[in-house]
Amino acid sequence: MAKRYVIANWKMNLPPEGLEKYLDAVGARQNGPALVVAPPFPYLKEARRKAAPSMGIAAQNCADHQSGAFTGEVSVGMLRDCGAKFVIIGHSERRTLYHETDAVVARKLALAIPGGLTPVLCIGEDLKVRDAGHVARFLADQLKAAATPELEQAEDVLVAYEPIWAIGTGRNATPAMVAEAVGEIRHALTRFWPAKHSEAAILYGGSATPDNVAGIAAEGKIDGFLVGGASLDSGKFLAISRALGSA
Ligand code: PEP
Repeated sequence: MAKRYVIANWKMNLPPEGLEKYLDAVGARQNGPALVVAPPFPYLKEARRKAAPSMGIAAQNCADHQSGAFTGEVSVGMLRDCGAKFVIIGHSERRTLYHETDAVVARKLALAIPGGLTPVLCIGEDLKVRDAGHVARFLADQLKAAATPELEQAEDVLVAYEPIWAIGTGRNATPAMVAEAVGEIRHALTRFWPAKHSEAAILYGGSATPDNVAGIAAEGKIDGFLVGGASLDSGKFLAISRALGSA
């Protein structure tokens, strides 16, 4: 069985309770799934310094080049220097708002893996694809496009199933929808990715809150959650982790 994770994606926000208080509260948790926090870039170092050693720190994005004239970008090596161990790649907000293509996503994976960051690859369909009944094909295509040769050397890659229509909308996928998508993702992983990743951890993300995760944790066949809005509150983040731990 894959290791279990709950990842907090703060996006371009900080927790209202303050970074230090948040990390103290979350770091006091004794056991359960691995906890990872993804703050905005300028707070990575501080988060690494203040978080419990057992907690992971993730960057929310990385450049698709190693170095050079790319104003405003941050490389994998710089993220490592700031204490990141994970990097979220291909989040739907990057794909839609910043026009990141599958090719860009694959280049980021190809840099993150040899650069020593564990990628959290986000995939997921929009409502048009779901309504047309093409979810399985869409997810398989995204995984196929991300199948860079560097995956052979990756110890771990996490896949986050994040249906776009569920992100930040308050409308989450049902446990049955998640279980079905996870089945399709596993199938595509065995078809297109090196065999070592067939058991990769698969997370669900999309309006997850303490009130709606129990069913998905129990029946969704997932190994964790990628949490946006609700992760800004340490109490809610911990409650989601407890729900996964007791599923
Ligand atoms: C996300 O940003 O990855 C996410 C799942 O956001 P939210 O939980 O707010 O839908």
